Formats: sequence, C-alpha cells, structure tokens
Amino acid sequence: MDVAHHLPPQSDYKVQHELGGARFIVSAEGCRITDGEGVTMLDGMAGLWCVNIGYGRKELAEAAYDQMLELPFYNTFFKTATPPPVRLAAKIAEKMAIGNPDLTHVFFNNSGSEANDTIFRLVRYYWDLKGESKRKIFISRKNAYHGSTVASASLGGMTFMHEQGGLPIPGVEHVDQPYQFGEGFDETPEAFATRVANTIEERILAVGPENVAAFIGEPVQGAGGVIIPPNTYWPQVEAICRKYGILLVCDEVICGFGRLGHWFGHQYFGIKPDLITMAKGMSSGYLPISAVGVSRHIVDLMVEKGGEFAHGFTYSGHPTCAAVALANIEILESEGLVGRTKTVTGPYFANALKRLSDHPLVGEVRSLGLIGAIEIVSRKGTNQRFGGAEGTAGPIVRDLCIEGGLMVRAIRDSIVMCPPLTISEAEIDELVSIIEKALNAADPLLRSLDVV
Ligand code: PMP
Repeated sequence: MDVAHHLPPQSDYKVQHELGGARFIVSAEGCRITDGEGVTMLDGMAGLWCVNIGYGRKELAEAAYDQMLELPFYNTFFKTATPPPVRLAAKIAEKMAIGNPDLTHVFFNNSGSEANDTIFRLVRYYWDLKGESKRKIFISRKNAYHGSTVASASLGGMTFMHEQGGLPIPGVEHVDQPYQFGEGFDETPEAFATRVANTIEERILAVGPENVAAFIGEPVQGAGGVIIPPNTYWPQVEAICRKYGILLVCDEVICGFGRLGHWFGHQYFGIKPDLITMAKGMSSGYLPISAVGVSRHIVDLMVEKGGEFAHGFTYSGHPTCAAVALANIEILESEGLVGRTKTVTGPYFANALKRLSDHPLVGEVRSLGLIGAIEIVSRKGTNQRFGGAEGTAGPIVRDLCIEGGLMVRAIRDSIVMCPPLTISEAEIDELVSIIEKALNAADPLLRSLDVV
C-alpha cells in the first residue's frame, strides 16, 4: 500500500519503489521506537527534532480526549475565540518574556513552514503600516531551513530545494552561514563570526538599507547540519539589525522548548529578536501546531492603525492542538526538563560525545544542550571528506548506527543527534557507544572506498 498509494514527503520515489516501501515505525515509549518487525531502537532524533518530552505520555492523550469531547474545533476568526489557544498564548508569552519582555503576543499556525509564511506576510504588513513599504527584502543564510512552502523554502537557503520550481521568490537574499568547521576551519571563532556577520551588513548596503525588512535565522541551524555559531555571532547580527532598523527574526522551530537548555534558543545567545517562530517541541509533535511570537511594538502599531491583517488558517489556534501543547509545556515545567537539559543532560551529552573526538574518523564533535553533530573526515586534523566530496561517509555511518539500534540522521558527512529531552544518562552512554561501534565498523570500509 505504501508504494501503491502513498507519496511520502521529501522522498525519492524511485528509491521508495525499489525498496518496496518504507520501514514502518508502529509504536514508541519513552526514548524508544519500535518498527513493524518488532525491532526497538533508541530514537536519537526525537522523531523529527520534535518529541521533546518523549513518547507515550498519557497526559497529552487525555488532554486531546477531554478537549475533543468538550469542543473539538471552533475557529478563531470573526471575533470568536476558544479557551485553549488563549491560555496557550499567555503561557508562551510568559516563556518568551524570560529573554525579551517585549515579546508579548502569539499568532497560531499549524506547521513551522506556515509560521515562517506568517513572518513573510506579517513583516511586510508591518512595514506598510509604518509607511515604509519599500522595506520588502528578507535576508537569510545559505543552507538555512525554514520550511517547504513557497515562501518558507525561499527564506531557506537549501539550493537543492530552490532548484525545483524556480525558487527563491523575489525579495530574499542569502548570505554566508556561520559554519566554522566547513567554511572557516583555520580562523579563530571570533574572526570567523565577524567575517560572516559582516556579509549581512555588506548585503544590506548592496541592496539599500531602506529596502530591507528583516533578517531571519535559526539560533542553531538544525537541518543544515546542527551548525552552532560562535558565541559572538548572534550579538553581532543583532547589532547590525539595530544599526539599520531591520527586524530580527529567530526561527525557533527546533531550538525552542528546551532544546538548547533554555525555553528559546535566542535566550542562550542573549539576543532580543522582534519576532520568533516555533513549532515541533511546542506540542512535542503529538499534534501539529506552530506559532509566531510578536513584539509589543509591532502589535501596538497594528492596534493603532487598525485594518484587517488578511492572513490566517482555518486551524489557527486549533483548540485540541492547543490543549495538547499546554499539557506538553506543563510536563516540561513540572519535570524541569529545560533546566535539566542546561545543567545535567546537556553537559553530560557533551562530555560523553567528547569520547568520540579521538576517533580517527572524527573531525569535530559539537553540541549545545541536547542537539549535536559529529563530523566525519578522511584525514584526522583536517576537514577533508572521503571520496573528495561530501556525502559519502555520512550515510554509511548512519546506516550502521541504525543497524546497531540507534535512529540518527546523516546530513552530508555529519551524524546529527537530537534526542528527547527526557533521555537518561544511561541512554546517552548507549547512544554514544552505538555511534562508536558504527564508526569502528565504518573505518575499514571507508578507507577501502577512498581512492584519494
Ligand atoms: N524551521 C525550522 C528551523 C525547521 O527545522 C523546520 C522543520 N524541520 C521548519 C521550519 C518547517 O517546519 P514544518 O516541517 O513543520 O513545516
């Protein structure tokens, strides 16, 4: 049936047909997933960077059940509301205020892509209201991921996505990403951060500051390969945005809800964005819901000027999804999972991964909170890749990890990890030792492949 009727997202349909269908995941509990053959694996990716509180939480099932019986759906258009999204907005505002008390309001959507589409429209609407309609350009980074709709894929910087369908749409400019291992190997972190942050200012000046609406970036790039910028990068980006009066947008779809040991990733970097987007960990993936956090100064202008913001979705503020997201946040709070990531599991994870630094295949190990990456290189001490090109070693090591009982992802030649925030210290040790075994098994295989 999978091959006969199902077109999965971001997939090669030839491969799907050759394989005769996908591997089915049929159940899960805690940090472990089980496939249709009964094989249980540690989930090193929290589903798709989202199951922050782990699997099998009855509280979320009950929240959905109760809300569905009470009021499964009603819209929030036309001067009506329902209680769950309003309560959720207040709860999110409380968490946003920790880093930026100006982030007071929330606009709901269903996915990360839609949240970034909302940014696209809201930012341009804001500048129109402000009487600066020329400000239409978004500056983003190469290799950023902001979603897969027309606007969000355009904001993203994945060239393989742009090549399909003539993206990006006009009005999006892409500058350098803060990927030091790949693009600043011999520089100090500070010099590298300054150089890439300056590409933003150069682009602003090239297109004219009066035409620039906003800068958007993920605090830590996820799908781009867990790219953790030097600590000096974001404050420099913020200063450039302030210098030219440009809105600063943080895409918190992966970094939000505790991933970096803070409620939002920008709070770790100590910056104050004007807008943020969030999804994934907001409901731990139990139901689809996303949001845009909006600063008071933007809301004040919309209130002052009046007129309808002609944007929104049938399911904006879906009551059942909102009730589940609230139950999810209550678990993050009551189990102290954000603080635990910062002070216990995050440092433990970093330390456990360090064990792999000495492995002959490992060029770099990096992590922040409970997200990390291992770069595989052909020559220790360099950033050279097997076969002279990117993307040979990563999938081989990933497949060996999966065979060994750990679900992880390969992005080019890095193995990326993003486990549930509920992961125990014993499970972190297990995760690292499965990767270590996979690297050991891959080593002779990769060296035999390498013709260089
Ligand atoms: N932004 C970021 C940073 C993401 O990682 C993703 C999804 N991986 C998205 C946006 C898009 O979210 P969705 O797939 O829910 O549309």
